[in-house]
Amino acid sequence: METPRTALTPRAPASRLLAPLDAIAAQSTTLRVERGAVFVSEGREYAIPLYEFTGPASGSDATVIGLFAGVHGDEPEGVEAMVRFLGQLAAAPEMGRGYVLCAYPVCNPTGLEDGTRHCRGGGDLNRMFWTGATRPEVRLLEGELRRRAFHGLIALHTDDTSHGFYSYVGGRMLTHYLIEPALAAAERLLPRNRAGVIDGFVADNGVIGQWFPGVLSAPPEAHPKPFEIVLETPHAQVEPAGPDALVAALCSVLDEYRRLMAYAVNL
Ligand SMILES: [Zn+2]
Repeated sequence: METPRTALTPRAPASRLLAPLDAIAAQSTTLRVERGAVFVSEGREYAIPLYEFTGPASGSDATVIGLFAGVHGDEPEGVEAMVRFLGQLAAAPEMGRGYVLCAYPVCNPTGLEDGTRHCRGGGDLNRMFWTGATRPEVRLLEGELRRRAFHGLIALHTDDTSHGFYSYVGGRMLTHYLIEPALAAAERLLPRNRAGVIDGFVADNGVIGQWFPGVLSAPPEAHPKPFEIVLETPHAQVEPAGPDALVAALCSVLDEYRRLMAYAVNL
């Protein structure tokens, strides 16, 4: 089955970007869509859709991962990557054996519609998590993060000031074992940003070990902490391979985490 493609245009309505996934979900036994997380902005209702992929069982409890894109409305690369990634999984579910993936490709629907980083009415959603912010998008996503107690979180972003791919990591120690193979997988498609300082943070081979307060992350009380990864690709006009590099990195994290868990079980 061919990978679904969507046009990478700013101001693309969520419905058009997500149409290939909706078509797949309508016929799939592994991918379903939920639109229960809704809020109202200027009299119109918006949803933060959830696409839930359930892979074949692995013999132990499923690993539940949260995938987030479109937190910044002017970063369609991550949305596009999510559409391609879930399309590939639905066509070849074996890739996702042992996983339940909860994917939120449009976390900021008003920003996506307006082509703006911030949500309509202002504010950077990615500085509001676990701060007591009352924005409905943040409240809805915080509810999902609490309810589902993910084993891992991966957020997809675009950095239009970077000419290379890089990442932020947090959460569990094992995140450090996951990130290098993921960056190596992306690097087969586009350059890695190996600067010593990226976005104002000290970076080591494209990995930043700290992040801004309020970034989408696990609940403060989460225990054990999930692994937390933010993947940053250059703008599609600089590196058209960005969405594919994000997909390659996502596939790598799934493979590597499965491998690490199997290794841990055998210790
Ligand atoms: Zn971003």
